[in-house]
Amino acid sequence: MGTTTDDVIPVPAVPRVRVRGGGSFPVRRIYCVGRNFADHAREMGAAVPASKAERGTPVFFMKPADAVVTGEAVPYPPATTDLHHEVELVVAIGRDAPPGVLPVEQAQALVFGYTVGLDLTRRDLQAAAKAKGLPWDTAKGFDHSAPVGELVPAARVTALGPQQLQLRVNGELRQQAPLSDLVWDVPEILHELSKLYALRAGDLVFMGTPAGVAALQPGDRFEASLEGIADLRGRIER
Ligand code: MN
Repeated sequence: MGTTTDDVIPVPAVPRVRVRGGGSFPVRRIYCVGRNFADHAREMGAAVPASKAERGTPVFFMKPADAVVTGEAVPYPPATTDLHHEVELVVAIGRDAPPGVLPVEQAQALVFGYTVGLDLTRRDLQAAAKAKGLPWDTAKGFDHSAPVGELVPAARVTALGPQQLQLRVNGELRQQAPLSDLVWDVPEILHELSKLYALRAGDLVFMGTPAGVAALQPGDRFEASLEGIADLRGRIER
């Protein structure tokens, strides 16, 4: 295929995530939601809305598609001494959104499936960026910053809500919360994203993390789970 095009460099590989039951999911973009669990917003020193009506708008940022990690080995990134874990529900978009703002009631139809992932964060760089009012890109969008588990088609999943999102590091429980604690649920987030971007098949959405974020060290082993749906195991390489 490469020999018949006039590309002046080899076409970069498309990142792919395995799908339960067979096949693979090519990744186009990775959207992430910040401050989507009240207890985590609180631990980061951010304001917590008193009610749904006072939520304002969600905090969004992105990671490059090739930040996805599907194997067990996650390299410790350069330029940080404070790499943090954030365990998250990850939503995979399987159909292009229609033009315009996506109504909340139509959002679920776009969902291909779900998995659990880690939004790895250089917390020291994020704190420095926040202090200066600068973008979070170097804190969030670095190489190997998005380990994800096997994607589970939505048809195999019962309604989201009671399932516990959980992360253990070296066997110790670090983060745990039910999906019902999300400030913005999946259809609401897709609706909000569609005001800013054209959602397309191949997009992943990291839905935000509950409290308990903390440092990972070289050699640490992690086990993340989305109860009854998906698992993710790996280790931070030295
Ligand atoms: Mn996050």
